[in-house]
Amino acid sequence: MEEQYEYRERNVEKDTSKEFRFGEGRISGIASLMLGVLSLLAVLAYLYPSYLTTTELRKVYDAEQLQVVLKYGMYFSLLLGGLTFLLNKGRYKAVGVCGIGLTLVAFALGGYSVPVGPVEPKALSLGVDWLILAFLGSVIVFVTLEKLFPRYRDQLIMRPEWGTDMFYFCFNHLAISAILLFANYHTSHFSWAVSTSIQEMIRSIPIWGQVVLIVLCADFVLYWEHRLYHEVNALWPIHAVHHSVEHMDWLAGSRGHFVQVFSERAMVMIPLYLLGPDQVALNIYVTFAALQAILIHSNLSIPFGPLKFVLVTPQFHHWHHSSEKPAIDTNYSAHTVLFDAMFNTMHMPGKHWPAEFGTTVRLPRSVIGHLFYPITANLKRFKINKR
Ligand SMILES: [Zn+2]
Ligand SMILES: [Zn+2]
Repeated sequence: MEEQYEYRERNVEKDTSKEFRFGEGRISGIASLMLGVLSLLAVLAYLYPSYLTTTELRKVYDAEQLQVVLKYGMYFSLLLGGLTFLLNKGRYKAVGVCGIGLTLVAFALGGYSVPVGPVEPKALSLGVDWLILAFLGSVIVFVTLEKLFPRYRDQLIMRPEWGTDMFYFCFNHLAISAILLFANYHTSHFSWAVSTSIQEMIRSIPIWGQVVLIVLCADFVLYWEHRLYHEVNALWPIHAVHHSVEHMDWLAGSRGHFVQVFSERAMVMIPLYLLGPDQVALNIYVTFAALQAILIHSNLSIPFGPLKFVLVTPQFHHWHHSSEKPAIDTNYSAHTVLFDAMFNTMHMPGKHWPAEFGTTVRLPRSVIGHLFYPITANLKRFKINKR
């Protein structure tokens, strides 16, 4: 019985040895290294834009204006690397040196003055530009929010398995053109269902009305896709990778088996393609969906007021990631709470938040283990069934 379930407060232990404090040269070291890596990647993207930038994204930003950002990034990397050397007495000196070293390589390759010209589009490229912009945006917006309004104040930014999720973050962004190529190919099979008269009618609705319509249609598809991943035994091990994360924050949502990442994008593209909305409405939806996906995994406790009865919030999706009994196979929606309410799969026990995250059967902890988990778990299931 759900009413009898005893909710507990999540216990996050404070680890002062790993905590970053101002003045110790650790924050500056990490920042210098981060900017060094990003600067080098950016310079490479300016040198080889056909191979390292995203056709769709190039239309949105001004490459020359971003060189100004790159310039400041490079100088700050050098400055912060120097600061680390002055402040830190331990091994973070080396981190600062690496940051400076990478930035100097970026300078040697042409720095922020690589000429920007027309780009010959390639069918497949690596989304280095998308990775850099999404990383900067996420760190500036969400890490700041997590520090200002944390749900668990003692949870560190570099919490356990941080590196694993950073790998997934990089993979998902670098693979963007492959994901879009696959999703477009998949949707092309639905051309028979396109109705120009319906599409014209949809485009005659005001933009915000179109956005609401897209959100609802996308949410319906995502709800059922997500529910199948949970309730079809053979599919669950693919999605279990996303659920194997045991600490929720801005980075946690990146974890996901590539089959899920590709299939989710391909499925959600079908309603968008069939509706044929105005490009502006589509852009608003894509931005909203991307921000909400990070937000709902974040270590954030912002009071959403009455909005929490309409939209999927961190509390709602944190419950979806809980391994506690009453929360198993609930809260499937991605955007609004509508379909969970409608199909009776909602779990929002008032002010309570989960105490435990993860899967009831623990997954392998490595990326390679995750990659093969759908095969190993299904083989195991098959053997048990045969007995
Ligand atoms: Zn799920
Ligand atoms: Zn999630």
